[in-house]
Amino acid sequence: MNTEVPIPAIQSQQYCAGLRADFPILNEKPYGKPLIYFDNAATSQKPAIVIEALQEYYATYNANIHRGVHFLSQKASQAFDDVRVKVQEFIHASSEREIIFTRGTTESVNLVAATYGRKNIGAGDEIIVSAMEHHSNIVPWQLLCEEKGAKLRVIEMNDAGELIIDSFKSLLNEKTKFVAIVHTSNSLGTINPVKEIIALAHERNIPVLVDGAQAVAHSKIDVQDLDCDFFAFSGHKMFGPTGVGVLYGKLNLLENMPPYQGGGEMIHSVSFEKTTFNEVPFKFEAGTPNIADVIALGTAIDYMNGIDLNSVAAFEQELLAHATEGLKKIPHVKLIGTASKKSSVVSFVIEGVNALDAGMYLDTLGIAVRTGLHCTEPVMQRFGIPGTIRASFMFYNTFTEIDQLLDGVKKAIQLLRRD
Ligand code: PMP
Repeated sequence: MNTEVPIPAIQSQQYCAGLRADFPILNEKPYGKPLIYFDNAATSQKPAIVIEALQEYYATYNANIHRGVHFLSQKASQAFDDVRVKVQEFIHASSEREIIFTRGTTESVNLVAATYGRKNIGAGDEIIVSAMEHHSNIVPWQLLCEEKGAKLRVIEMNDAGELIIDSFKSLLNEKTKFVAIVHTSNSLGTINPVKEIIALAHERNIPVLVDGAQAVAHSKIDVQDLDCDFFAFSGHKMFGPTGVGVLYGKLNLLENMPPYQGGGEMIHSVSFEKTTFNEVPFKFEAGTPNIADVIALGTAIDYMNGIDLNSVAAFEQELLAHATEGLKKIPHVKLIGTASKKSSVVSFVIEGVNALDAGMYLDTLGIAVRTGLHCTEPVMQRFGIPGTIRASFMFYNTFTEIDQLLDGVKKAIQLLRRD
């Protein structure tokens, strides 16, 4: 999101307070207490229109797509196909053919590793990832390296949780064949200089995949401006349903990649002697797709297109600042991830208090945080900690909720801390 236009705090606060009403779940009362949902980095909540889109599809035009001549199938096919164009516009891809529907970020990364990777990476080659990757942007590359005899290299980070660009530069060499990098860290909140990283890799003609799972809900993505070769994200982290995600790939790369899974839809013609494959993107979408969730992802994009992203981004930064300042004042609390450019995520440890115990105590207050490794075990190893407590904010959160978190943390320390 463009945060260059300064917005008076009160205006963005009021605007975002109004958006809360779009999310029915925020009226829930776990244990009779108002829900304070701070696990947005794991999955965002869904506005009513997204939930209604699912209901409407199943109740009024559920049908398989692309192969039916009947009314329902045509309606469902049209709704499904429209979403590809919506996604294209949403991330500013140059063609709808560059949009592949997947199950989510994890499958998107695996698709690239299994197709582009298998074809183009060989023994002795190197793949660069960073020290703050989610497991889903490490393990597929490790599997590929094992299969091919290639090597995984890791960009280091500093104590604030920022990538060290010189470390990246020193890893680049003639053996480097691929770079896979997270846009925004889910466990530290760090927003990485992906555009700079992509430009450096491209100086050597090395393709770059960006894991955009945490970036899509909080910033405007322009894949042409980034010039990334692949961009992966999940619908459920941007107000859409689970089970659907996107892989963007540059058309010339996609066209030269072998298929991913075999089955219906991805073929042009099948015989026992020889099968020919469908064109991009269908070549990568075997079988009946996740029709309902793709359609509801389109509704989530409509929702995002309808909100004032500048106000939302400004308010999320205020929530982040409020939580950060509050946590810094609490004795025994240590923030993990203090990068200068951060998304609305606070990760912290409490000296003498087990993170899981603290999370369970906060839960009794109706506060949903996440504790543990956050699928980034190497990050925890880097900081020498067993895990963190993570609160991740969305525009529908409030300062009052954060104050309740801060009170909850103080109480957790009184109750649980062992000297
Ligand atoms: N990358 C990052 C940075 C993430 O935060 C996540 C989800 N926690 C993923 C990848 C994986 O996303 P999914 O589970 O939706 O495939």
